[in-house]
Amino acid sequence: MSERSVTIWLVRDTCRIEDNPSLNLALETAGQSGTACLALACLEPRRWKHYQFGLARTGSAWKSFRANTLIQLRTELLQHDISLWIGAGDPSALVRQIREWFSISAIITDLPLATEETEENRRLQNLGLKVLTTQSDELFEATNIHSALERLPCSFTQFRKTIEKDGSVAPSLPVKFSAMGSPVAQIWLDPPELYEARNFDKHRYAQPGWQQYLESGALSTYKKTRNALEGANMSSRLSAWLAHGCLSVRRAWHDTLQYEESYGANESTYWLRFELLWREFFRWYSRHIGSALFTKTSKNDVCKVNQSESVLFENWCSGNTGVDIIDAAMRELKQTGWLSNRGRQLVASHVIYEYGLDWRLGAAWFESQLVDFDVASNWGNWAYIAGVGADPRGGRIFDLESQAERYDPQKTYRDRWLGLSPRKFEH
Ligand SMILES: Cc1cc2nc3c(=O)[nH]c(=O)nc-3n(C[C@H](O)[C@H](O)[C@H](O)COP(=O)(O)OP(=O)(O)OC[C@H]3O[C@@H](n4cnc5c(N)ncnc54)[C@H](O)[C@@H]3O)c2cc1C
Repeated sequence: MSERSVTIWLVRDTCRIEDNPSLNLALETAGQSGTACLALACLEPRRWKHYQFGLARTGSAWKSFRANTLIQLRTELLQHDISLWIGAGDPSALVRQIREWFSISAIITDLPLATEETEENRRLQNLGLKVLTTQSDELFEATNIHSALERLPCSFTQFRKTIEKDGSVAPSLPVKFSAMGSPVAQIWLDPPELYEARNFDKHRYAQPGWQQYLESGALSTYKKTRNALEGANMSSRLSAWLAHGCLSVRRAWHDTLQYEESYGANESTYWLRFELLWREFFRWYSRHIGSALFTKTSKNDVCKVNQSESVLFENWCSGNTGVDIIDAAMRELKQTGWLSNRGRQLVASHVIYEYGLDWRLGAAWFESQLVDFDVASNWGNWAYIAGVGADPRGGRIFDLESQAERYDPQKTYRDRWLGLSPRKFEH
């Protein structure tokens, strides 16, 4: 019993060493309390096991990316004598097991993004443990953007204008490691799900890296290409790296500024930061509205699906609607776990407005498919398109014919994903 005391860094979606305030706070707390620091990543049932609307919460793309990310993080932490424990279960269940062997001085984790993380933290506190949270994955510190936060729930434009006037993005911070002693050995075996997930597919490696994107020079034309349906370097492909927290968003922000110093600033180089502000907006919006992110009502907000609707939904999920642009996009999503922003908007508009289905079904399908699933960005964007979110204009209906004509005039995208031309991946 309690031979040794530990401070736990509970790893959620910031799976990195660089620029990580949670990890920094855990190291500081461990230093002050004279305890060892260990990192704990949980394969939580809410993400690894559970279903919503009959759909798995996460799919093979997300799981394989996460599993590979955790293995990489474990290697990096070990170089600093910190071990990463990986267990399957709710954090409170795993922490209870740890408590049988160690006394726990504190648990440090990220400021919750949505309701489930908040509930997990509450369960930890109910064990009588000290749980400290810190902001770890935003551009702006809450203390510096009071006026923008006070305006919530406002539109993106109102939020952005206030934040651009008042806020500045702090530099990314190095993590201060100090001598830790020997790493604390994990008291259980790694869960088999971890290795099963790793072997699903090589999704992590199908996501081009940020450095590669910067080196390509494509940032200088980002605004012109970001709306395309396909094409090498048409957009940054930052999303999976940010969603799993392999890359710090502040680092990405400052990299664009540095890029401007070397290659010149233009509308495109600014526009990537503009898009990162969308991510920022949805994070604060999610915290502000809490569970309403998932339940807000609209005319589509009846999650009872009759038989004909269920057929429509299945056709939409599998890319068999008969609308070629939708089918191509849905097949790309299913096969790769990724879809362009334009593709996401079109398929969301189709299932909400052409089929009249509950937007939350679409959001749940995306959650189960996307390699870059992020609770705030996914549910926030879906609600926005459904006209129940932070959009003063009340929803987004896309004219699919004209969109297909504009973004796929030669039908190359449709032919590729509908199997009418040889498959050539350009990701
Ligand atoms: C219905 C719907 C669901 C979405 N679900 C997710 C999701 O689960 N996870 C996710 O990361 N993005 C989501 N997005 C936002 C956006 O489509 C993706 O971030 C983007 O397509 C990823 O490709 P990229 O990194 O090359 O984007 P880029 O165009 O290069 O953008 C750079 C970064 O800016 C941020 N960003 C860009 N557009 C948005 C946006 N509309 N909302 C929030 N952040 C944005 C992302 O972090 C992105 O990686 C969704 C959009 C829609 C319309």
